Amino acid sequence: MSSIEIEMFPCLSDNYGFLLHDPETGLTAAIDTPEVTPILAVLERRAWRLSHILNTHHHGDHAGGNLELKRLTGCRIIGPRQDAKRIPGIDEGVADGEVIGFGAHRVEVFETPGHTRGHIVYLLRDERVAFVGDTLFAMGCGRLFEGTPAEMWTSLQKLLRWPDDTRIYCAHEYTAANGRFALSVEPSNAELRRRCEEVAKLRAVGEFTVPTTLALEKATNPFLRPDSRGLREALGMAGDDDVAVFARTRALKDAF
Ligand SMILES: [Zn+2]
Repeated sequence: MSSIEIEMFPCLSDNYGFLLHDPETGLTAAIDTPEVTPILAVLERRAWRLSHILNTHHHGDHAGGNLELKRLTGCRIIGPRQDAKRIPGIDEGVADGEVIGFGAHRVEVFETPGHTRGHIVYLLRDERVAFVGDTLFAMGCGRLFEGTPAEMWTSLQKLLRWPDDTRIYCAHEYTAANGRFALSVEPSNAELRRRCEEVAKLRAVGEFTVPTTLALEKATNPFLRPDSRGLREALGMAGDDDVAVFARTRALKDAF
């Protein structure tokens, strides 16, 4: 399998932009379009031509640059079929279980409703790379603007079945704040405590904390750990089901 190249760069106040490039075919995809200028700057620096936009969801800090980039480059826009009406300039809608060909690479589509009704995420399984938009963050998960806790927990369980060494590219740098919340609900988690110390050092010198890995999230992200004894004890929910623990964790984070 030929390699794939990824460029990651800050956009807006705390978004990340991503460009995915296949050297074999010259194809280049922007994963979401938070801000046009930095995307164009990276395209120019790498001498890449934008062929695709892969949207995760309709929010302005994810699809706001679609129309201008399409006008400038003629790229093809792929996004959630369920939410096609809210994705500016969409050419092709995709749904759960479908696979997009990107050169010789396979990009698997998963529907992950919760943050928005139509949210989708993209997995390149062979390359162990995933773009998860606002569904999963380092030590956090997206706010439930258009879904229930049960829907979001079902969505996150799809991600939990991916290979542990999958590199997870989330769309915001929220890690330090997420870590402070995570420690408040699972203070007994030693790996979480170590990770928060590491994140503080990285952020102090302006380093990215993304991508993360699924293994690291399984060990430290409270939203993937409703079965954790330490979390359940801290919440006083030893006997509740996973959805109830997840819902309580999400509600506590909203008020944190
Ligand atoms: Zn969003």
